[in-house]
Amino acid sequence: RFIPPLPKSSSKSKYEKFDLKQEYKKRNSSKEMLNLVVIGHVDAGKSTLMGHLLFKLGKVNQRTMHKYEQESRKIGKSSFMYAWVLDETEEERARGVTMDIAQTQFETPSKVITLLDAPGHKDFIPNMITGTAQADVAILVVNATTGEFETGFESGGQTREHALLARSLGVQQLLVAVNKMDTVNWDPSRYDEVVKKLGQFLKQAGFKEGDTSYVPVSGLAGENLAGPVKEARLAEWYKGSTLAEQIDKFRPVVRPVDKPVRVILSDVFKGLGAGLTATGKVVSGAVQLGDRLSVMPAGEYTVVKGISINDEAVNFAFAGDHVQIVFTGVDITNVGVGSVLCDCQTPVVCASRILARVVLFNLEVPITRGFTVIFHYQTVTEPAILKKLVSQLNKSTGEVVKNRPKCLTKNSSAVVKNRPKCLTKNSSAVVEIELEYPVCVELYKDNKELGRFMLRSSGHTIAAGLIEEVLKTKTKDG
Ligand code: GDP
Repeated sequence: RFIPPLPKSSSKSKYEKFDLKQEYKKRNSSKEMLNLVVIGHVDAGKSTLMGHLLFKLGKVNQRTMHKYEQESRKIGKSSFMYAWVLDETEEERARGVTMDIAQTQFETPSKVITLLDAPGHKDFIPNMITGTAQADVAILVVNATTGEFETGFESGGQTREHALLARSLGVQQLLVAVNKMDTVNWDPSRYDEVVKKLGQFLKQAGFKEGDTSYVPVSGLAGENLAGPVKEARLAEWYKGSTLAEQIDKFRPVVRPVDKPVRVILSDVFKGLGAGLTATGKVVSGAVQLGDRLSVMPAGEYTVVKGISINDEAVNFAFAGDHVQIVFTGVDITNVGVGSVLCDCQTPVVCASRILARVVLFNLEVPITRGFTVIFHYQTVTEPAILKKLVSQLNKSTGEVVKNRPKCLTKNSSAVVKNRPKCLTKNSSAVVEIELEYPVCVELYKDNKELGRFMLRSSGHTIAAGLIEEVLKTKTKDG
């Protein structure tokens, strides 16, 4: 394991040192912050739904909405006026700072929600993985329209894959928005049908019943998003919460603020001032101005010169925060997407070979030794090879965490077969994966969020996995 020597400490830091424990307590006495991702099949109505919700919650003023209405009508697409609320934010962001995922914030009575926009089109799945890896909770939007729900739900549809991905990437709580209820005349039996079909599948995918909830809505009509229900046909049978009320009911998420600091970078660029600017997420620990950190896999040292959250300069940030961070002392050729700023004493490990437990999804052909895949880990995508099929485990339901055997040695009772020749769909196995370039990873037992990855091949997500062991390490210089 590579541990770089500590740099000699320079003259006394000019930055004020904050008691981060106290500061975290202070922050938690106000509203809880949650990162929300919106997932679902293309055209399920994700943008329209969230745009309309933001409008209802007062995040978009009447004048701007009027502008969108007129402009969208002019080009004969008035149904897109609410979707533009999100697109506009995206554009604004693109002009200022490059972000691979647009971000918007809104508040409910007890929470501040950061909305991570995840595009639903098939081509965008890698983006969706990045977005979902950063999320605490998710809204799955499904289209209730006759035939349309079924299309999204069939294999090849995005409803299933998104839900599986979300669970495998660590999202535990899921709110299902049964959308476009206006197209089925607000029929309660259609709603029940969708809820029943999804419920069975989500349970299989590893979502606990108490962690999933459903709400009938129309994003276009703005019905049952926030405020009292106006639609009489819905009011007749639906007595539950609105979408905004359900979002407010998400359980608080425990963040690993006491663990060593890790900031995973999603973009790095040369800022206006000295040093480099990066966007990323603090996945564990806390970081403050003046902190001296290690940059991996470069194995270099850096000092944090600036932190901002939502374009606002701050003195510190905690696990769960999306930050823009300015740091000095590192050459831009030595950092990039997937680099990690971490604690100097306990830096992350850069692995070139790992032992992992994987759950395979719907494979077209069985997997054999030597199979090439794309390894998706946080913001990183790297080519990789399945070097060894170590053992096949008890058939899993696709759920990775529950019933995970404590010991995953070859003799574990969960092992069905050692050294299998091939792995078929929906099976579960222990494998060795060799990465073409080293990736900074963490073991699942040390950090539940950073110990997870996904494997894709030919445009499909074929497996979700947990990192059990690092078998070979490597730094940038070998
Ligand atoms: P996305 O791809 O999931 O983001 O979907 P969009 O928000 O772009 O919506 C796709 C299409 O469905 C657009 O033409 C919307 O106007 C339409 N749409 C969205 N929500 C509703 C709804 O609640 N009812 C009806 N009838 N159409 C909707």
